[in-house]
Amino acid sequence: MKSNYHCAVKDCKREFCALHRFPKFNEQPERFRLFVEATGNDNLKKLTPRKIYDRIRICNNHFKLEDMRRVGDNRFALFRHAVPSVNIYEI
Ligand SMILES: [Zn+2]
Repeated sequence: MKSNYHCAVKDCKREFCALHRFPKFNEQPERFRLFVEATGNDNLKKLTPRKIYDRIRICNNHFKLEDMRRVGDNRFALFRHAVPSVNIYEI
């Protein structure tokens, strides 16, 4: 089954890549903001944090290896303070 999600980062063309949820805004507002900025995707600014958490994903391609740990075949979990820092949209 094909996933409905794709990476939110502007111009990211990666497919078949592990995807991550955004942080919860009410728990980590600053980290949430850094994720939104890293995407360079202004459409996200029109969505509520709740909708972003439910619908938007960001792919593995924007994190360093040390930002995540493998939790299964092609599944990775981000560490709690990881932020996108690789191949992100330059502001
Ligand atoms: Zn991506």
